[in-house]
Amino acid sequence: MREAAKTIENQIIAWRREIHRHPEIGLETTRTAALVSSALKEMGIEVREGVGGHGVVGLLRGEGSPGQEDSGGRARTIALRADMDALPVQEETGHPYASEVPGLMHACGHDGHVAMLLGAAKILSGMRNSLKGNVKFIFQPGEEGPGGARPMIDDRALEDPRPQAIVGAHLGSLWNVAHGKVGFRAGPLMAATDRFDVLVQGMGGHGAAPHTSVDPVVVASHIVVALQTIVSREINPTEPAVVTVGVIEAGSANNIIPDKCVMKGTVRYMNKDLGPFVSRRIKEIAESMASGMRAEATVQYHFGYPPLVNDAEITERVKMSAAKVVGAENIVVAGQTMGAEDMSYYLDKVPGTFFAIGSSSEAKGIVYPNHHPKFDIDEDVLHLGSAIFVQACLDFLGG
Ligand SMILES: [Zn+2]
Ligand SMILES: [Zn+2]
Repeated sequence: MREAAKTIENQIIAWRREIHRHPEIGLETTRTAALVSSALKEMGIEVREGVGGHGVVGLLRGEGSPGQEDSGGRARTIALRADMDALPVQEETGHPYASEVPGLMHACGHDGHVAMLLGAAKILSGMRNSLKGNVKFIFQPGEEGPGGARPMIDDRALEDPRPQAIVGAHLGSLWNVAHGKVGFRAGPLMAATDRFDVLVQGMGGHGAAPHTSVDPVVVASHIVVALQTIVSREINPTEPAVVTVGVIEAGSANNIIPDKCVMKGTVRYMNKDLGPFVSRRIKEIAESMASGMRAEATVQYHFGYPPLVNDAEITERVKMSAAKVVGAENIVVAGQTMGAEDMSYYLDKVPGTFFAIGSSSEAKGIVYPNHHPKFDIDEDVLHLGSAIFVQACLDFLGG
């Protein structure tokens, strides 16, 4: 499979560079979606455009006699997923194919994800006569926010036919996977990401007369410290969780007690049962501390991406497929990160796995982390990603 992918490596790299030149952010990935759907159509793959906005779903129906069947006696379906969106970062790589859009850049490798998945589609489309089931290709916008997976699922991306497994991959260095290695992990891999806003309403006044006002800065300071006890004193220490207050805004001059103080924060956790608990405790702590100090706190809590949890069985199977491509010696355990990924929404509905491909290379000076203006991927690994996807499909459908 590695050799098959190698023969189209130039095409995979060309796709990656074309997408890299024209980054699009958020849900508005119109140009990228058009490129994806025309490439898929050229391969003779059924295409549904505009799924949940600018998502694209391709469906390759295998014509070989079904290998294994689903519960309804039909050929099985496996889904492969890539994200298409870039970031609001000014590129500093100096590449001839660097971003042509000021202030936007593919700094998380999603350009490579699209190229790898198109590569897999190309190889699989050439094998349709013998393919023993269906492969669904899901290309989504908005992974970096506000989330493109959920609108696509709501728009039936996982129906007609419904896949029995879903697989996605990420390039970069976030999971401590070295160059050329491929990292897998069963169970939780990435965290849920929620956010909250707290408004502390005090009563403004003269800085020299605090007794005639209610100082929201002092109240907010107590709240920030108290919120840190949720993780340190109330959650089982074996469960990873984070509560961070990233914004605290109040005041205009050194001798004025402001009227109000605004705080904004993020919450991360691996166990999805913790979400309702943390949200309730943030509210209780902020409100009761404020009222105990004569102020009033209003808390808004927004649930975001759920934790990303890999299915143990599918992870093991795709790991075996990957070992056929890169050799068992290049398979490693992916490190957990409290970062988040909306691949988690699909994995909530369909068992599957999300794995990491090490695409940094010290030898080539590709050392900057994801989201950095000099972030880059070693293009030599892209065809390996395509080959792993194809091998995983063949193994799952009956090779
Ligand atoms: Zn990212
Ligand atoms: Zn990403």
